[in-house]
Amino acid sequence: MAHDFDLFVIGAGSGGVRAARFAAGFGAKVAVAESRYLGGTCVNVGCVPKKLLVYGSHFSEDFEQAAGFGWTVGEHQFDWPTLIANKNREIERLNGIYRHLLESSGVKLLEGHARILGPHEVEVDGQRFSTEKILVATGGWPVIPDIPGREHAIGSNEAFFLEQLPERILIVGGGYIAVEFAGIFNGLGSATTQLYRGELFLRGFDDTVREHLAEELRKKGIDLQFNADIARIDKQSDGSLTATLKDGRQLHADCIFYATGRRPMLDNLGLENTAVKLREDGFIEVDEQYQTAEPSVLALGDVIGRVQLTPVALAEGMAVARRLFKPEQYRPVDYQHIPTAVFSQPAIGTVGLTEQQALEAGHELKIFESRFKPMKLTLTAADEKTLMKLVVDASTDKVLGCHMVGPDAGEIVQGLAIALKAGATKQLFDETIGVHPTSAEEFVTLRSVTRTVTPEKA
Ligand code: FAD
Ligand code: NDP
Repeated sequence: MAHDFDLFVIGAGSGGVRAARFAAGFGAKVAVAESRYLGGTCVNVGCVPKKLLVYGSHFSEDFEQAAGFGWTVGEHQFDWPTLIANKNREIERLNGIYRHLLESSGVKLLEGHARILGPHEVEVDGQRFSTEKILVATGGWPVIPDIPGREHAIGSNEAFFLEQLPERILIVGGGYIAVEFAGIFNGLGSATTQLYRGELFLRGFDDTVREHLAEELRKKGIDLQFNADIARIDKQSDGSLTATLKDGRQLHADCIFYATGRRPMLDNLGLENTAVKLREDGFIEVDEQYQTAEPSVLALGDVIGRVQLTPVALAEGMAVARRLFKPEQYRPVDYQHIPTAVFSQPAIGTVGLTEQQALEAGHELKIFESRFKPMKLTLTAADEKTLMKLVVDASTDKVLGCHMVGPDAGEIVQGLAIALKAGATKQLFDETIGVHPTSAEEFVTLRSVTRTVTPEKA
């Protein structure tokens, strides 16, 4: 029986849009359903607005530092509603671009909530469609732990639409979002406290990076509190919030923002009408080709809980489209050497193994580290230090990991990711001519070994 569509994509986010457009380009009949916003999390409440807010918040330091270069900057003040309104306008423009991209590639866009009725049937707002394949690309949703008073807390979705800049904010969590927003609110002038339940935030990043960033954030005035977690939140009569910590201390704030991870978005999706299985942590189980336990259903992006990054969802979307409709061009996604940046202030850029991961994998290591004041700050009173670190296999000379904390770390690490993917040795780094004067050149001029480490000593 001929179906209405060859591929029915649920979710017009990073992964869904990429898969739909490419599948349509390969000649497939494709529909995409989107219930909320075109472009998904990244465009609407993720990467894009976040980066705009990071840019906005950095101006406070820029104004201070300008004095060292002879500038007198007049009275300056910040207006949060203006930033949010301008950000919203830009996001609307991007939504329009996404609409155009889908429509011009021949994809049928259905704006509404999609529910799976069976292995080959999907319903959108009462309308039923039959399809050969279904692709679940529904992304994730912020999780706020179930503590008394959680209704007084916000997550990242709300943070992008606050009506006023909070005077005092508590940010809970020690991952990407918590660290990035601590920098945003601190830079914009909120008294910012970040609470993390463990010893040191950013678990999974290189320890040197984690320690260096903690030091830098404290220098900038963020009140970083580790081994700290909230037991309950109470709203006071004046509208302010009191957080009672598990150790009994009380902290007062105007806003409490939880950035404690994301769950898969499976609400009213109808997976129970299929044989799709979930992993123990609730994310959809797929094989290496994004196939679920139901032969006609595939899933990708945040909803499969592998690597929750936009470029990874894009790569997965492309892989699915090729595998289904252009198999001769199919290439599996390479999950090694995924570069990533945390847009903290200063930013983290990282690719490859951390020192700890390399030791666990049994490598003997040469570690190269450098800390320096970036040139742009030499004429200023700023006390910010950049960190660069290379993790090198002592026997093969292969560079296993590059890590940086400093301005433009994300921009710098992108190129290094190509070198690592190509299997570059430290000698190749040494033979590469630097670009002068830049911070990036430090990565090709790190001459002396800071430490040698063997797995036994670790
Ligand atoms: P999404 O982009 O979340 O798209 C899923 C779409 O499905 C949504 O539009 C949703 O409305 C729709 N949907 C859900 N259920 C249904 C349904 N039943 N019917 C119809 N539609 C439905 N990544 C980076 O690489 N760099 C960054 O700087 C970065 N910053 C981030 C900052 C924040 C605050 C957050 C939250 C995330 C950030 N990410 C970043 C992660 C990135 O946004 C995600 O990894 C990426 O968006 C995942 O894409 P996706 O296609 O899997 O899902
Ligand atoms: P993360 O998984 O990165 O971090 C979650 C943090 O919350 C961890 O520090 C975790 O602690 C802590 N946590 C989890 N549960 C609790 C709890 N019950 N109580 C207290 N603390 C808790 O999630 P985020 O929400 O920050 O971001 C989601 C994902 O989105 C990221 O992992 C990343 O993939 C993506 N993202 C990417 C960005 C980028 O590329 N720049 C920016 C923003 C998001 P512990 O470590 O102890 O488990």
